[in-house]
Amino acid sequence: MALIVQKYGGTSVGSPERIEHVAERVLATRDQGHAIVVVVSAMSGETDRLVGLARQIDVHPEPRELDVLLATGEQVTIALLSLALHKRGCQARSYTGTQVRILTDSAFNKARIRDIDEAAVRKDLDAGRVVVVAGFQGVDEHGNITTLGRGGSDTTAVALAAALKADECQIYTDVDGVYTTDPRLVPEARRLDRITFEEMLEMASLGSKVLQIRAVEFAGKYNVPLRVLSSFQDGPGTLITFEDDTMEDPLISGIAFNRDEAKLTMVGVPDEPGVAYRILGPVSAANIEVDMIVQNIAADKTTDFTFTVHRRDYEKALEVMNRTAKELGAREVTGDTKIVKISLVGVGMRSHAGIASTMFQALAEEGINIRMISTSEIKVSVVVDEKYLELGVRALHEAFHLDKAPA
Ligand code: ADP
Ligand code: ASP
Ligand code: MG
Repeated sequence: MALIVQKYGGTSVGSPERIEHVAERVLATRDQGHAIVVVVSAMSGETDRLVGLARQIDVHPEPRELDVLLATGEQVTIALLSLALHKRGCQARSYTGTQVRILTDSAFNKARIRDIDEAAVRKDLDAGRVVVVAGFQGVDEHGNITTLGRGGSDTTAVALAAALKADECQIYTDVDGVYTTDPRLVPEARRLDRITFEEMLEMASLGSKVLQIRAVEFAGKYNVPLRVLSSFQDGPGTLITFEDDTMEDPLISGIAFNRDEAKLTMVGVPDEPGVAYRILGPVSAANIEVDMIVQNIAADKTTDFTFTVHRRDYEKALEVMNRTAKELGAREVTGDTKIVKISLVGVGMRSHAGIASTMFQALAEEGINIRMISTSEIKVSVVVDEKYLELGVRALHEAFHLDKAPA
């Protein structure tokens, strides 16, 4: 008998019919003799709806109260799924994050899980019950309800699997695995049988929202066997694994993209020691995360300094930069919110030169201007104009033959 944690995302529990379908799937797994913990998201669109309601009252909702509101979405689905299981003669019990005691820090809207008290869950499992847990939520040490950030139900599932030492954590969603890129953008995208934790982590942090970054981090750290599957069709899905020396790694595993980018440039900054710090210090003091950074070589004793931030932080960053520009005597601050980041990811890149030049050639052939570049051992990212997102991703998918399985 194995212990399996199954997580069903928003689309998979998007209607009463779909919830009944999930119940059937859970029962089928149980009939194979396995113990099951199910984690569910809110019904699709529900979390957005709740955020919208809060914003109708206040465009910057108080974070603690927002979490009280957002946590209701998942409370609905745990109850409905448990009802569907009961109707089928299956003993099931639902738990909110607070009831399990998924202990988090107090960073409302983006809390991190610290500890899970799995005693109650174990007791139910021992009694032969299916345990249904609300994803995306926890409780801090003061008893406040917290949420884990968008897509956080993935992390709930992986954290529970780690705490319970489950045999596998299965993430059921609306695609049948992790693809070479988002299949909604590129229909030729190919499902991967396996992808390494390292690559999945890069894909997630570079914008592929199929798994929350923290879920992948957790799974890697606690060695949780993690699989992404479809709740609509049967199939092997994608296994997230550790790197395996016996297999030749493909050069490029996937293409990630991120639409949430914005860039800011300080033009004509005096080229002196300490300038990067004087520009970025106030930005980080304002709690704004900076992603790519580029500083040009000075031509006339002044330089241009460019960096990217999340689009939601753009206005705030611009304010901070305008202040700093005055202090430094810089010429001006310019900005652009209509940019996107496209990234190639693959552990096979480590041992191959020339990936970046093939990438740049493919983009050049489509007439796509590259605005910024950054590289690491296993990825190359470029910033391009938003209007080139689809064209760029498709061109790269083709240039690296990602539609065909590596020989
Ligand atoms: P859920 O509600 O089940 O958590 P999500 O919407 O969070 O589902 O994640 C699944 C979606 O992720 C897919 O519908 C797909 O559009 C998107 N996606 C982005 N990149 C990829 C990728 N590389 N492989 C598969 N899906 C991807
Ligand atoms: N319901 C939350 C969201 O939409 C959490 C999740 O689905 O993982 O982000
Ligand atoms: Mg998700």
